Amino acid sequence: MEFIDLKTQYQAMRSDINARIQAVLDHGQYIMGPEVAELEQRLAAFTGARHCITVSSGTEALLISLMALGIKPGDEVITTPFSFIATAEAIVLLGATPVFVDIDPATCNLAPALIEERISARTRVIMPVSLYGQPADMDEINAIAWRHGLVVIEDAAQSFGATYHGRRSCNLSAIGCTSFFPSKPLGCYGDGGAIFTSDDHLATAMREIRVHGQSRRYMHTRVGVGGRMDTLQCAVVLAKLERFEWELEQRTRIAAAYDALLSGKLDMVARRRDRSSAFAQYTVALDERDRVQATLHAAGIPTAVHYPVPMHLQPAYAHWCRADDAPVALAMAARVLSLPMGPYLEHASVQQVAATLLGALGQSVPPGARCVPA
Ligand SMILES: *Cc1c(COP(=O)(O)O)cnc(C)c1O
Repeated sequence: MEFIDLKTQYQAMRSDINARIQAVLDHGQYIMGPEVAELEQRLAAFTGARHCITVSSGTEALLISLMALGIKPGDEVITTPFSFIATAEAIVLLGATPVFVDIDPATCNLAPALIEERISARTRVIMPVSLYGQPADMDEINAIAWRHGLVVIEDAAQSFGATYHGRRSCNLSAIGCTSFFPSKPLGCYGDGGAIFTSDDHLATAMREIRVHGQSRRYMHTRVGVGGRMDTLQCAVVLAKLERFEWELEQRTRIAAAYDALLSGKLDMVARRRDRSSAFAQYTVALDERDRVQATLHAAGIPTAVHYPVPMHLQPAYAHWCRADDAPVALAMAARVLSLPMGPYLEHASVQQVAATLLGALGQSVPPGARCVPA
C-alpha cells in the first residue's frame, strides 16, 4: 500500500500525460512556453480568480506574494504554527517577523478568535493555512483583516480544489497560493506552484517579480527572483486537470469510507459543513500516536505525521517566539496521524487500514459496517 499512490494515477492518465510532455519536447519552448499561459487561464477559470501566476513552487508563491505586498524587515505576519515550514520561511526570508497564533483543536486551522489580540501597529498580513485540504475560517479572518487594514494570503498548498461557501480555495481572500508538489491534491512531476489574485496591480507586480523584477527584457524595475514554473511541469498539470474533479470526488468518497469505519471510535480532524476539503490528508488524533503508528508500519501500512514539531518550536524559528505561544498546536503535534489517502486507494485498503488502526486501539470494526457509502 502506498501513502499517496502516484503510480496508479500515472497509469490511469498515461497517454494524456505523455502526449502533453511530447508536445513540449516537440515545440522546444521549455521556459514560458504556451502551456504556461494555457494553464494559468485554466486555473484562473477553475478558481474564479481574475489572475493566476504560475511559479516554481508553493514556497516561491508565498515569497513572491509577500514581496509584491512590499513586506520588509520589521513587518509582522500573523500565521499558524501548525503547518509545513515553508509558511514561516517565506516570512523570515524577507526579514519580517512571524507571529504564531494558536489553532482550533477541532480543525487544526488558525483560530480566528485568537488573532486580534496579536495584531500590532506592525502587522501587515494574516496568512492562514487551509490545512489537510480544508479551508480555514476565511470569512472571520477576512473580516478581522478588513477591520485592521491587513491583507489575507491563503496558504492553499494543501487545499486546491476545496470549496468554502461555494467558492474555490485560492479565491477566498486577496491572495491565494498553492503548490503542485507531486503529493499535493493537484501535483506535477517536480516542483511547481501558483498564485491567485483578482487585483490587477498585485498580479502585474507578481509577474514581474517572478522574472527577476523585469518589466521588459533587461529592464529591472523591482528586485525579483527566478521563480518561473517550467513549461514541462505546466504540461503535466494540464493533463492531470482533465480528471481532477473526478479525483476530488474519489477523495471525498474515500474519506466518507474512513468516516463510516472510524467515526465515534477515535478523534478525527473535524470537517465543517460549510466547506469541502480537497483531502490532501485524512488525519486522526490519538493519544498513543507513536505506538499506533509503529503497529500500522509493522502491518505494511504507511502513515505520516503532519507535523511533529510546530513551527514556533523549530530550532531555527524559536528566536521569533515564546515556547508557550501555541499550546494547542503543541498538543496536536503529539496526537495527529495521517492515513493513506488518494483517489486511487482501494476500498479493501481503507478497510484494512481501519481494522488495523482500531485493532491497535483494542477496538474492532463495527460488524456489518459498510465501507462504501451507498
Ligand atoms: C507543501 C506546502 C508548501 C510548500 O510548497 P512547495 O511547493 O513544496 O514549495 C507550503 N505550505 C504548505 C501548507 C504546504 O503543505
